[in-house]
Amino acid sequence: MIVRKKEIKSAYLILFMPAIVYWSEDNLYLNITNRCSNNCYFCFRNFISGVWGFNLKLRKEPTPNEIIKNLQRVINQRHWKEVIFCGFGEPTERLDCLLDVTKWIKNYHKSLVRLNTNGQAYLLNPGRSVINELEETGLDKVSISLNAHNKEVYNKISNPKFENTFESVLGFIEESKRNLDTEITVVTIPEADIKKIKKIVGEEVKFRKRIYEPHF
Ligand code: SF4
Repeated sequence: MIVRKKEIKSAYLILFMPAIVYWSEDNLYLNITNRCSNNCYFCFRNFISGVWGFNLKLRKEPTPNEIIKNLQRVINQRHWKEVIFCGFGEPTERLDCLLDVTKWIKNYHKSLVRLNTNGQAYLLNPGRSVINELEETGLDKVSISLNAHNKEVYNKISNPKFENTFESVLGFIEESKRNLDTEITVVTIPEADIKKIKKIVGEEVKFRKRIYEPHF
């Protein structure tokens, strides 16, 4: 009876407690913020509370120490292919936290670390050398989301907070390509013209489609 209560309690915690660290198959994910400088009409967080049985709606942003403590519980449980900054928000909204946690992972574990980003780090962190700072942590990969081939489409589908976001994202992509292992991801929404997007980011860059699943 006692065991059963414990089982119910842990199932409750997994389903309802906000998850800072979550996983699927052999990838481990970090949900460090729910803030984002975009408001994309297709964003998951507008329609669901989480993924794979994890609740990703944070009640408060975790400190780097809290993230590391959560990571310590699971990082040695199996061989994770990648540890990925990817949650219900834009990780570069918390650049210092992202850098601290990446350094900790690269110091103590062999896992590859990837950042999934909307590419707006320079707008979010004016005056910082974001790509150099990321490179110095030992970050392995950057996946940059780009779902439009021009400013008009970008603004329409993503409702960015900043002026000139599209131009800044293209600049981030260029610098990332020169310094880090970089891929571009495109959600297959009807507005995304993949051929044209490939043309503006350069045919040589890695490219990955993410299948659009409407939630309404
Ligand atoms: S950039 Fe990503 S997290 Fe931000 S609103 Fe768009 S889909 Fe959501």
